Amino acid sequence: MTPALLAIAFLLAITLCYAGVCAGSPFGNCHKCRGMGHAITTDRKGRMKRGKDCRRCKATGKRIRVGRHLYNLWARAYRDGTR
Ligand SMILES: [Zn+2]
Repeated sequence: MTPALLAIAFLLAITLCYAGVCAGSPFGNCHKCRGMGHAITTDRKGRMKRGKDCRRCKATGKRIRVGRHLYNLWARAYRDGTR
């Protein structure tokens, strides 16, 4: 096996794994709030307190995976094209 072929096989394996993850769980935790849906702040006594809602995930704590988002776009285009 040549190094180039090995690299291609490696990339293909990663892509397949990622496609599997996207199919299995299309939503991942939001990076900004780590799945909480809001920020954590502390009040004046130092206790944990619910902060502002996360704007990035609209307070759901979830974000759609890039691969799944692309699949959704493709699926929509396919449906519209074959109707
Ligand atoms: Zn978030």
